[in-house]
Amino acid sequence: MPALNDILRIRRAKLEDKHLFRELQVIGRDGGDVVTVTRGGRQLISFSSNDYLGLTQYPQVMAAARHAIDEYGTGAGASRLITGNHPLYVECEEKLAEWKGTEAACIFGSGYLANIGTITSLMGKDGLIIADKLSHACLLDGARLSSATLRRFAHNSVDNCANILEKHRNNYNNCLLITEAVFSMDGDTAPLEQLIQLAEKYDSWLLVDEAHVVGTESLLFISKSENVVVTSTLSKALGSYGGYVCGSQELADYLKSTARSLVYSTALPASVIAAASAALDIVMQKPELIDVPLMRAKLFTSLLDLPVATSAIVPLIVGDTQKALNMSYALEEEGFLVSAIRPPTVPPGTARLRFTFSALHSEEQVRGLAQAVRILQATEAAA
Ligand SMILES: *Cc1c(COP(=O)(O)O)cnc(C)c1O
Repeated sequence: MPALNDILRIRRAKLEDKHLFRELQVIGRDGGDVVTVTRGGRQLISFSSNDYLGLTQYPQVMAAARHAIDEYGTGAGASRLITGNHPLYVECEEKLAEWKGTEAACIFGSGYLANIGTITSLMGKDGLIIADKLSHACLLDGARLSSATLRRFAHNSVDNCANILEKHRNNYNNCLLITEAVFSMDGDTAPLEQLIQLAEKYDSWLLVDEAHVVGTESLLFISKSENVVVTSTLSKALGSYGGYVCGSQELADYLKSTARSLVYSTALPASVIAAASAALDIVMQKPELIDVPLMRAKLFTSLLDLPVATSAIVPLIVGDTQKALNMSYALEEEGFLVSAIRPPTVPPGTARLRFTFSALHSEEQVRGLAQAVRILQATEAAA
């Protein structure tokens, strides 16, 4: 039998050939301006963080985490069902439900764990899952783990989804439609109202992943339907770590006793929940903060004559993986940290630069970035 490392070297070489081998970069924070990061000793303005509201560095949020460590220590010590369910969980779940306008919420170890736990808990062999083609990896992982039949509909195509339902729904006991409110790599939004109508018409449930939703805007009609499950994360706009599900009390109770990623994994540290709770206080007290990332994204798309931004995420599709990497390096030379996103995170041939905008970016920083991109595009065109 070949040695493990020999096999890994061969596999690595194959990935390297396709420019798909990835190495972790050390990204520091310089403690000053919170969108400024350091890489290789250089200061860069980051347009690659999901810290949409800058809450990871917010004094009140940091103080809440410190205070919780003093009170509870570091780790939670056990799963939520054993002895890990400290009082901060209850408080934070109540706030999440209030913020999202649902009856209840259930916190998981991460957004990834919330999705795989919820999907496997709701669906089994007798079920059909119909997921948007561009659904995040953890939604598809959850679908596969559940042993339900997985079918995928063309991105944001209500017609394609309806066709699949028409053809296959009757062969299964349960059916779950899956989509994202804001798509993580494209920044576009799902036709939620129409998908809810489809779910109702075909006696199905709808799971909406809101990981990249900064506020509560997409919930206007969601919370009105009993058959909608919302999953999200505490790790992006809320500046902490963890994931959660919002919906009925019935749903939250059921997940707490059946979702394996919750039952068999240690509870989150009190400091992490305390930070999320403090972040929720801020977004509820200052709802105007939530609008800023989209305003910055819109400024950027208008400066570059791109389609108007519909979320804080703006993709610039380049196509070729190496070209996307080169553009990312060139922007780094200009002082901007912008990630190149490549397959398999995005479909082959759609490598891209992905810009994420934060409430902390000044208009001036956005203008500077747009100018650097413009110059890069001109150089490319001339080459
Ligand atoms: C980031 C993300 C997740 C995972 O959330 P984590 O809390 O980082 O595990 C799930 N779904 C989508 C769409 C995401 O972008």
